[in-house]
Amino acid sequence: MAIDRRDCEAQDRDDPLAVARQRFELPDGTLYLDGNSLGALPRGVAERVGRTVREEWGRDLIGSWNTAGWYAAPGRVGAMLAPLLGAAPDEVTITDSISVNLFKLLVAACRMRPDRTEILAEAGNFPSDNHIVESAARMLGLTTRFVAASEIASAVGPRTAVATLSHVNYRSALMQDMTAVTAAIHAAGALAVWDLAHSSGAVRLDLTASGADFAVGCGYKYLNGGPGAPSHVFVARRHQAAFDQPLQGWFGHADPFRFDAGFTAAPGIRAALCSTPPMLSLVALEAALAAFEGIDMARLAAKGRALCDLFVSLADERLAPLGVELASPREGARRGSHVSLRHPDAYGAVRALIARGIVGDFRAPDAMRFGFAPLYIRFVDVFDAAEAIRDVLGSRAWDDLPPVEAGAVT
Ligand SMILES: *Cc1c(COP(=O)(O)O)cnc(C)c1O
Repeated sequence: MAIDRRDCEAQDRDDPLAVARQRFELPDGTLYLDGNSLGALPRGVAERVGRTVREEWGRDLIGSWNTAGWYAAPGRVGAMLAPLLGAAPDEVTITDSISVNLFKLLVAACRMRPDRTEILAEAGNFPSDNHIVESAARMLGLTTRFVAASEIASAVGPRTAVATLSHVNYRSALMQDMTAVTAAIHAAGALAVWDLAHSSGAVRLDLTASGADFAVGCGYKYLNGGPGAPSHVFVARRHQAAFDQPLQGWFGHADPFRFDAGFTAAPGIRAALCSTPPMLSLVALEAALAAFEGIDMARLAAKGRALCDLFVSLADERLAPLGVELASPREGARRGSHVSLRHPDAYGAVRALIARGIVGDFRAPDAMRFGFAPLYIRFVDVFDAAEAIRDVLGSRAWDDLPPVEAGAVT
């Protein structure tokens, strides 16, 4: 039977997480399905950043490192985030970007397996991750091997120091079984470095129960920390004493304000830091995390899956006849919180949708990607998006658009 918009309205009425949408400032006339690339703006963030600028910086100046808790902020915000990752508060901190942190974790993990010669990584991962893998391996004199995510568990071997992959793939949304893959990596004597870019704040994570060694995740995607928000680093407590990351800078020093000429790493997770934290971005992320207060992550993940399931059903029912193919797993348990569709005119369709206020993104060569951030996306939004895609494809709406300006970011 055809899916009806009224069924979606009923699902929204019954949704226990519907209140979370009120915690966001969503622009009128925009249906935002790109929260997997840049999360929406939570209420309270602008005020908090404004206060930090005017009072903590403008009035209290350098004293704010102590009086406003700036110095402790990376660990404090990391501890706030830890429950969303299924980690202990002293296993997470906030610093730098994903790529930079991945470099630190890969090198640190390889240093813990000095007799091994290889980094094993996911072919088809976000390119930046593998650029970092290549350079870290070159610097350490190791070889690299790239295999599909689904082959990491069988490809890991006695030469492998570290295996690294995304928990949820940025294109397909394919989600790995972190427990099983980590167990296979450990059985080969290697260490696992997970990228949680499309997981943190979107799907259920239990880094502790999964046996994860190291992980890095994104502050500006599903955690809504704002453009360029610092990322988060997880180092399992059992590895912290041996954790020797390569970017040893003064913020990771045991006592930065003694200005010792020599380096002594801080104990615990603080050793993951390198430099002065970007306080405005860090307080924005801290304020943004309030949107998760009282939210049960299992329930949040279930809603994300239900939104994506609905979209897959609508795509089967209404978009497949127009030549659209599903480029994400059909099985909800194996999928993150976004869905990719393939169509030869994907580029034009995404442009035409954005012109109508329906914001997804295009991933070359032929994928349209739609993120369903479960904190603020409704079931009716999924329905309306599918109808708009049908209309745009059916009418070739991109034919009426002005040409793209050279140099524009798509
Ligand atoms: C978004 C994303 C990144 C972003 O990296 P930055 O260094 O933080 O810009 C990295 N890896 C993956 C898998 C991503 O999805």
